[in-house]
Amino acid sequence: MIQTVRGVRDIPPEESAGWLFLEEQARRIFQQYGYRELRTPIFERVELFARAVGETSDIVEKEMYLFQDRGGETLCLRPEGTASAVRSFIETSRHRSLPWRVFYMGPMFRYERPQKGRYRQFHQIGCELFGPAGPLADAEMMALVLRLLEAIGIGSAVTLEINSLGCPVCRGPYRERLTAHLHERRTQLCGNCQRRLERNPLRVLDCKEEDPALLHEVPRMLDHVCDGCQEHFAGLTGHLTDLQLPFRINPFMVRGLDYYHRTAFEAIATGLGAQNAVAAGGRYDGLVAEMGGVSTPAVGFAMGMERLLLLMEEQRIPVVRPDLYLVVAGDRMVDGYGLQLAEQWRRAGLRVEMHLSGGSMKSQMKHAGRSLAPVTALIGTQETAEQTVTLKWMESGVQESLSAERVLERLLQTNA
Ligand code: ATP
Ligand code: MG
Repeated sequence: MIQTVRGVRDIPPEESAGWLFLEEQARRIFQQYGYRELRTPIFERVELFARAVGETSDIVEKEMYLFQDRGGETLCLRPEGTASAVRSFIETSRHRSLPWRVFYMGPMFRYERPQKGRYRQFHQIGCELFGPAGPLADAEMMALVLRLLEAIGIGSAVTLEINSLGCPVCRGPYRERLTAHLHERRTQLCGNCQRRLERNPLRVLDCKEEDPALLHEVPRMLDHVCDGCQEHFAGLTGHLTDLQLPFRINPFMVRGLDYYHRTAFEAIATGLGAQNAVAAGGRYDGLVAEMGGVSTPAVGFAMGMERLLLLMEEQRIPVVRPDLYLVVAGDRMVDGYGLQLAEQWRRAGLRVEMHLSGGSMKSQMKHAGRSLAPVTALIGTQETAEQTVTLKWMESGVQESLSAERVLERLLQTNA
């Protein structure tokens, strides 16, 4: 018996209705805000992520799925979506005007320790907006995230947290201040952080190994941002207040990726334990230029679909059930008559589940009951000879005999 690989899982048919519902709500809401779908490859050159996500990020240091193809090139299963969106933006930007609004959804791959809400293949939905530099764009994006969380029924289970990570003007001086502070406490840091203290001290703030008390007393970026960043942040909180979107300023949020500028935000859920971030994003104004494009401000977010579905589990996800279950009891003629009717009803738009494996009327009716279809169509030798159908309404048990033509009319009527 060959089993699935550690950290990955099937999405069984019983769960897929929830996934479809989530995807449909996301598409609907993204369209309301003017986003169109971008589909990028599942694998890319490893340099793309090394440069975009950052050499010192957890993702690049230890989570990437790397492989060599038969031509000897080192490729990587995508661990996140922004790098590919930026690559695509740069590759095609000559033919396009701004702003460029795109969304994506699909699997991502990270070699992590699997646990509840953390897998090695997981799925993200995300949006990227290229062009606008002001806080209006950040606020609109947060509104979009909250609208989606509301639409899937978990709006009240989630808190929006925001922070500013500064910009190239103010981050340098802050970094020095932070490095000095952490240097004095060097021995209290985990091995990994001691090593990367010089290269990227901000990373320490995001490390899950560190003592929270130690992190609590470090200098805060928000207290050291420049005037431009201060103004941007004030603009953002102003817009959020105008929209009456509840938010919390979290000066300790740094985000795991290197590319953020100014705004960072997360949607935090209660009740998911340590894996409590369902959506995360921010502004990455420097990234397009860093990746070789013409400098373009941008803002984006990604949400983890597994974590959203864990939260949605208690909510009501619509169940997909057939409109009609079809039972045929008789010979080949009866089967043929039933099959033709089923096709006709499906062409008219009905969900028809036909019983295909024979058996007594009694056992077929048992399957009909399990299908949750509100009505069962019964076809035997008599119905076939008379070109009629017997309908049985499952809740009341009432039966009626109709001509084949009238059945469709009757079903569409009750479905309307
Ligand atoms: P975490 O701090 O939980 O590791 P992250 O900062 O690595 O999250 P991002 O790279 O910002 O996460 O990804 C955005 C979202 O994708 C997360 O908020 C989370 O919902 C989801 N996500 C990230 N990694 C995983 C994973 N291994 N399994 C399931 N969902 C994940
Ligand atoms: Mg992570």
